Amino acid sequence: MTKKLRITASILDVRGLIMSHQEEGCSVGFVPTMGSLHDGHISLVEKSSQENHITVVSIFVNPTQFNEKRDFEVYPRNIDDDLKILGDYPVDLVFTPDAREIYPKPDKRIFDFGGLDRIMEGKHRPGHFNGVAQVVSRFFEIITPDRAYFGEKDFQQMAIIQKMTMDLQLPVKIIACPIIRDEDGLAKSSRNKLLSAEERKSASRIPESMNRAKEQIGQLSVQQLIEQTIVYLHEDPQLETEYFEIVDAKSLKPIADWSARGQIRACIAVRIGNVRLIDNMDFSL
Ligand code: AMP
Repeated sequence: MTKKLRITASILDVRGLIMSHQEEGCSVGFVPTMGSLHDGHISLVEKSSQENHITVVSIFVNPTQFNEKRDFEVYPRNIDDDLKILGDYPVDLVFTPDAREIYPKPDKRIFDFGGLDRIMEGKHRPGHFNGVAQVVSRFFEIITPDRAYFGEKDFQQMAIIQKMTMDLQLPVKIIACPIIRDEDGLAKSSRNKLLSAEERKSASRIPESMNRAKEQIGQLSVQQLIEQTIVYLHEDPQLETEYFEIVDAKSLKPIADWSARGQIRACIAVRIGNVRLIDNMDFSL
């Protein structure tokens, strides 16, 4: 352990500490999480600590971004383990508020994402991104970071946050961090902890199917590639694909053919039993 980790659930404490650092000219990096930490989160923490004088990590399972009550209830929570893990990294402050601290009154704000929230995750999880924007903007207000770190694992979330930050002219730089994967390619996720051993084996078909598709870019039409990938996924009866889309990485709109210029991203959501996993991959030509 490098130094004593400060942990607080109070906005007042957070403000006091951060202001004292900012008065000394320190830059603040912020890593928002819902806890149950893994190497994906840690990669964000490490990047923040390389680029800022102090790093603040929040652990808060935000109720307003869950569109299914059950999903919120079963979401893995391991605060003791999380704090132990963070103790081994150059983190200065861990903010662990409860819902009343973040939302003293119900948050009624509705954000306009210009349609980015009506596709893929937004379409399948109504209200999800509005809840994400509520909590992230609230955290930005409390923590006033110079830089905030988000994983490309949640690719659409990143686009939403970038748009919100621009629209509200918030003085924070959004930093995108690459996806960290397990050895078999499955993207690290807190939700992986909810998988049975058998389901965990099946889950490796998600990155595998995207890698297979990637090898065939240009050989099949976009539509054929999507259909073939879904057929391959469903060869395992445990998997149920919610969507598999190949989109322009900026607009997130589906591409019609491979002549598309710019960055291309393949995005997927799959259900395995009660667990819903998302992933994405760079499909740029
Ligand atoms: P979460 O706790 O799932 O809300 O994630 C907190 C942050 O960690 C988000 O910015 C995620 O995109 C990021 N993250 C989650 N999993 C990964 C991963 N496998 N690789 C990189 N970043 C990740």
